[in-house]
Amino acid sequence: MDFGFDDEQELLRDTLRDFASNELAPLAATWRTEPFPHELISRLGDLGLLGMKIAEEYGGTDGSYVALGIAAEELSRGDFNVSYFLQLSTIAAMLLGDADESIKRRWFPAVASGDATVAFGLTEPGVGSDAANLTSTARRDGDEWVVSGEKASITFAGFADACIVFARTGGPGARGISMILVPLDASGVSRQVYQSAGGHLSQRGSLFFDDVRVPLDHQVGAEGAGFIGAMEAFDFNRAVIALACIGSALQSLDETVAYTKQRMTFGQPLAKREGVAFQIAEHLSLLHASRLLSYEVLALADAGRPHTTEAAMCKWLGPKQSAEAIHACLLLHGWPGYGTDLPFSQRLQDVIGLEIGDGTPEIMKAIIARETFGREFTSYK
Ligand SMILES: Cc1cc2nc3c(=O)[nH]c(=O)nc-3n(C[C@H](O)[C@H](O)[C@H](O)COP(=O)(O)OP(=O)(O)OC[C@H]3O[C@@H](n4cnc5c(N)ncnc54)[C@H](O)[C@@H]3O)c2cc1C
Repeated sequence: MDFGFDDEQELLRDTLRDFASNELAPLAATWRTEPFPHELISRLGDLGLLGMKIAEEYGGTDGSYVALGIAAEELSRGDFNVSYFLQLSTIAAMLLGDADESIKRRWFPAVASGDATVAFGLTEPGVGSDAANLTSTARRDGDEWVVSGEKASITFAGFADACIVFARTGGPGARGISMILVPLDASGVSRQVYQSAGGHLSQRGSLFFDDVRVPLDHQVGAEGAGFIGAMEAFDFNRAVIALACIGSALQSLDETVAYTKQRMTFGQPLAKREGVAFQIAEHLSLLHASRLLSYEVLALADAGRPHTTEAAMCKWLGPKQSAEAIHACLLLHGWPGYGTDLPFSQRLQDVIGLEIGDGTPEIMKAIIARETFGREFTSYK
C-alpha cells in the first residue's frame, strides 16, 4: 500500500494551494453578494481543472480521479464554493460521454475551457432522496423531445448554459427515466435563484421547462438508462464532495492553530490549554481518517474497482466532521469568529449544504446498510 502522492500529484497540490491562497481566498467573501466573474471560471479552465475527465481530443486533460480529489481539497482551502465547478464539469463529462458525437463536439471544449457550464437536473420539488419517482416528462414529437416540469435545488441554475434533465420517457420507477440535454437558451425555459444559507456563488435554484423542444439527438445514453447513469455519476463525486469539505475544515484548523498560539487568556496562550489543543487534535485525527477514506474511493475509481459503499461512507463522514471542525474553529476564535470578517461562519454554512446535496446522511447510511445487509433488508433500493 502506498499512502503518498506521486511527484506529479504533489506538484498539482502545491500549485493549487498557492492559487487558492493567493487568488481565491482574498475574494471568497465577495461572492456572498456578487456573481462569480466569468474570468475566474475561465481561469479554472486555463488551469486544466474543468476538463479533468474530458478526453484530450475534446480539449480536456484526461486526469485521474485522485487528481480531481486533490484539486477539490486544495481549491476549497481558498474558497469551498469553487469546488462546485469541478464537480459539475466532471459530472457533465461523465454523463455526456454517452451522448451523440455532435453533442460532445459542441459542449466538451466549452465546458473544459470554462466557456460553458452544464447543470445536473435530477431533484424536483416533490422528490429528492427518492428521485426515481420524479415526474418531469419528455415526450417524442416528430424529430424532437418536448420536455416539461420543474427541476429544483439545481446548482448553477442562475447561469448554467445547459442542463442534463432527468425526465420520464417511459413507465414508473427508475427504468422509465432518460437523460435529455437541454440548452437553457431554448424557448420555454425559465429560472428562479433561491436565497441560501451558504453556497451563494453556485446560484442554486429552480429550472422550469414549459414544453421545451430539443432535437432527438439531445437524448444522452439509452432511453430508460437515465437514473442508472445518475447513480453511477454520484459515486466518485461523493469523495470529491468530502474532500472539498475536508479542505475547508483543514484550512480552518490551520488558521485556528496559528490563532491559539498567539491568543492569550489568563496569562497563557490558548494553545497551551488541553481543552483547546485536544479539540484540535481530535478534529485533525477524524479528518485525517475521512481524508484517507476519500482518496481510497478515488483510487478505487481510478482502478475501475467497486466503491459504492466507501463513497457513501466518506460522503456521510467528510461533510459531518468538517462542519463539526469548522464549528469548533469558529468558537475557538471567540467573538471575532462569529463575525463575517473571519471566514468560519461562511465556511460552516457552505459545508452544511453538501451534507444535503448529492445525498443526505440518512441516504448514505441506507446505502451502507443495503450493501452490508443485502437489498432484501432495506426499503431503499
Ligand atoms: C447545496 C445543494 C446543492 C444541490 N445541487 C443539486 C443539483 O445540482 N442537482 C440536483 O438534482 N439536486 C441538487 N440538490 C438537491 C439534493 O440532491 C437533494 O436535496 C437531496 O437529494 C435530498 O432530497 P430532498 O432535499 O428532497 O430531501 P428529502 O428526500 O425530502 O429528505 C428530507 C429528510 O428526510 C430524510 N429521509 C428521506 N428519506 C428517508 C428515509 N427513507 N429514511 C430516513 N430518512 C429519510 C433525509 O435524509 C432528509 O433529512 C442540491 C442540494 C443542496 C442542498
